Amino acid sequence: MTTYDELSPQSVNIQTIDALWLPASVSLDVLRLDRLHTVVSGNKWYKLKYYLANAIQIGANTLATFGGAYSNHIVATAYACRMAGIKCVGFIRGGEAGNLTHTLKAAAAYGMQLEYVSRSEYRDKEAIKILLPGFSWINEGGYGATGAEGAAEIVSLVPNRENYTHIVAAVGTGTMLAGLVRSALPHQQVIGISSMKGNLELETSVAALLEPGAAKNFHINHDYHFGGYGSTPPELISYITECWHNYGVPLDIVYTSKAFYGLQDMMEKSLFAPGSKVLFIHSGGLQGNLSLPAGTLPFS
Ligand SMILES: *Cc1c(COP(=O)(O)O)cnc(C)c1O
Repeated sequence: MTTYDELSPQSVNIQTIDALWLPASVSLDVLRLDRLHTVVSGNKWYKLKYYLANAIQIGANTLATFGGAYSNHIVATAYACRMAGIKCVGFIRGGEAGNLTHTLKAAAAYGMQLEYVSRSEYRDKEAIKILLPGFSWINEGGYGATGAEGAAEIVSLVPNRENYTHIVAAVGTGTMLAGLVRSALPHQQVIGISSMKGNLELETSVAALLEPGAAKNFHINHDYHFGGYGSTPPELISYITECWHNYGVPLDIVYTSKAFYGLQDMMEKSLFAPGSKVLFIHSGGLQGNLSLPAGTLPFS
């Protein structure tokens, strides 16, 4: 039986940030999408929902996807499939069964079958797919138009969403950003902050998920990767700690901390015109913080 009762959209709220670095006439609200669920947190549920619905509709009994050992997408898929009552398999890059990360242990505990593939095998995903024709596939990181379609629903949780002039969010594959661009109103600008270093194909990846001829009202900033995907230098940890103490906002080490830092920096550089009303999407991902040694952060 399919039951999504464990999700808690009623807990998702808007938190207004009062910070010294905000220019006097600029406001900042955070959409606390992280509160949707502790595992399928934030954007991952929205990205997955139509993949699940499609798999159920075509009667596929197994969903399969790809990811690394720290992938929020892997653990979210595992949990979402459990809720949907369908089997799932995760093809894990370069991993091995011995030393499981917290993320992979959780995915396995939620019932995902883990298949470890070497880095070279992982590169050739089509060769893996061809061997398993009965499976319903989701791209690595949930990238695709089906994911963007779900992510376009995120803003339906925002009351008076027309009041905002800018929507700011972290970017991995660009799927969520494409959804935000699809649902943005004509006067709204969408700004993505990439957590990867120098992933300059992102603009094209996002544009590919928009309807042909649709307005491409978005910009991606590549300056706030903190050393790249998975890199967590001490200054990032202190920034997360500071945000927790100052605003009570728990940020994750891979995506939202870099994006929020970037937003603050852009505010300090006066890149937002007076009168701007900015909405930051807290896209979740807090399970990723569990890969830090216990006690590194003041919250868990
Ligand atoms: C996966 C993830 C993202 C990136 O989403 P994409 O659609 O891949 O760009 C952003 N924030 C968090 C917390 C995530 O887990």
